[in-house]
Amino acid sequence: MPPKPPSPKTEFMDVEVGMPFLRTGVPADQFRALRQKVNAEAGFDFLSKCADMMRSKNFRSSKPGVAVKSRHQCGDAFDYNIESPATVVVREDAGGHTQFRTYLKCAPQDGNLGVLKTVTDYRGKKVKARLYDFTEAAGSLGWHRIPAHKGWTKTGKNFSKMEYWHYQNTEGKSWEEAMKFLYS
Ligand SMILES: [Zn+2]
Repeated sequence: MPPKPPSPKTEFMDVEVGMPFLRTGVPADQFRALRQKVNAEAGFDFLSKCADMMRSKNFRSSKPGVAVKSRHQCGDAFDYNIESPATVVVREDAGGHTQFRTYLKCAPQDGNLGVLKTVTDYRGKKVKARLYDFTEAAGSLGWHRIPAHKGWTKTGKNFSKMEYWHYQNTEGKSWEEAMKFLYS
């Protein structure tokens, strides 16, 4: 049985994650669209499992980099499955910010999915594989990454500041507007 929806204005996403709900409208619709697109174009259901999705309105965390007013509370953000062996995460610096691009190793590798590419991941490891640009696919459906928080590190307690797994699709709603829509 699915868990209880945190608000009647959310939809069940049928994803393996603690609270598998997103806000009704653009976030819910575009997550389904992205999941389907990635499944078709990378050859596997990458978004069937996520690291995080919705958080309750009273959610608080003491982890470094976790926002007090989190978009996860607004039901318009997800953190993808960080532990997936298919991800290849590449550092990109622009305008004084560090962001990360996520590629997925396509399944299968001998087919015509993705593009054969050689990239160096943020740990310095060279990867040559047929890769699918997840960040670009997400962006085409309104799901945007956020820059890493200052002080991020590749390991240890400030790893959570990297945020490369976080995507949000806010419809231009502020945190307050989204919360009002969900809980008024
Ligand atoms: Zn997140």
